[in-house]
Amino acid sequence: MNRDIWVFAENFGGRPAPVYGELVRKANEMREKMQEARVCGVVLGKDVDGLAAAASVQGVDTVYVMDHPKLDTLDACVLKEAFAALIRAYNPEVVLVGATALGAELAPGIAGKLKTGLAAHCVDIEVTEKRINCMVPAFGGRVISEIYVPATRPVMASVRPGIFDAPEPAGAGAPVTAGNPSTQVVRADSSFLDSVTSPVEMIAFEQDAPSADLRLEDADIVVCAGRGVSTQEDFENVKALAGKLNAAFGCTRSFVDLGFVPDESRMIGTSGKSVKPQLFLGFGISGAAHHTCGMNKSKLVITVNRDEKARMFANSDYGVVGDAGKVVSALLKQL
Ligand SMILES: Cc1cc2nc3c(=O)[nH]c(=O)nc-3n(C[C@H](O)[C@H](O)[C@H](O)COP(=O)(O)OP(=O)(O)OC[C@H]3O[C@@H](n4cnc5c(N)ncnc54)[C@H](O)[C@@H]3O)c2cc1C
Repeated sequence: MNRDIWVFAENFGGRPAPVYGELVRKANEMREKMQEARVCGVVLGKDVDGLAAAASVQGVDTVYVMDHPKLDTLDACVLKEAFAALIRAYNPEVVLVGATALGAELAPGIAGKLKTGLAAHCVDIEVTEKRINCMVPAFGGRVISEIYVPATRPVMASVRPGIFDAPEPAGAGAPVTAGNPSTQVVRADSSFLDSVTSPVEMIAFEQDAPSADLRLEDADIVVCAGRGVSTQEDFENVKALAGKLNAAFGCTRSFVDLGFVPDESRMIGTSGKSVKPQLFLGFGISGAAHHTCGMNKSKLVITVNRDEKARMFANSDYGVVGDAGKVVSALLKQL
């Protein structure tokens, strides 16, 4: 085994998914504490020379590529065979995967196949003299647990997009597709995939129609509802407030669980979106780490909670102790 740190470059229309840059940056921080470690990208797909070049960014020593017609898929059953074969061939110490829809399915599949450990939905990774600790919120987000993999390798970790900082932007006008000439590209044998079959048949790929709603990730203002917004009327008022402020509406997991919002696309936190607005307005949120790690890079945070001891106040610049519904109504009247 070597000390390499691998980062999966998921194919987003011919370019690595944005989380790749975030993980490469983190991997470079980690390597400073891991003697002789290299940072490597992993590219899987069909005709992926362009993707391999785009993954050859600064800070990446080697890009491992497996190119095969069967890898032109979102089928994690096939992709995990390719990824696991690469790991067996080159023995990295750490594998980082973005917890995107595909990555969140792929990472446990690879870990299971290799019988190694995976820390899912990490909010940080720390290298100490003795081990690699992956921080994962536990017990409803009340504690951050340190998860480490004692004996087996590689250590695998998945991380939501937006949890780690993005790389510094390249200088104005710098080429983004040219690749880094000092990065070595290694093409691995993929012929074994000819005989790999999957229980999944991909029938069609349909992309969601772009939503007219402001994307949480892009918004300058986010208005977020927590369980303390307990009535349908208050909930609608929080959404109306978001509309008035030209803000994106977000929520905690409570609303997804209650069925107030149909899916996780508006949820903020480890298993939802990460936001970094100029202003975050939160109503009736307790402050569980699963939620706060998705909003704690917001510039100014103002929250309302009727419990003056709510943990959310520790993550806020200004706090209002009071009833969320009443504060929202009062704000709406003012606007
Ligand atoms: C693996 C895993 C992943 C998770 N991922 C996420 C995630 O991505 N995002 C996420 O949000 N959660 C996530 N969770 C759940 C998370 O741990 C918390 O349970 C959740 O964030 C709590 O939501 P909440 O603050 O809305 O509700 P609660 O914790 O129930 O808090 C409600 C708050 O409202 C206050 N309140 C009550 N009534 C009023 C009122 N009238 N006016 C003002 N304040 C009031 C209360 O004092 C309390 O502080 C995850 C959990 C697990 C186990």
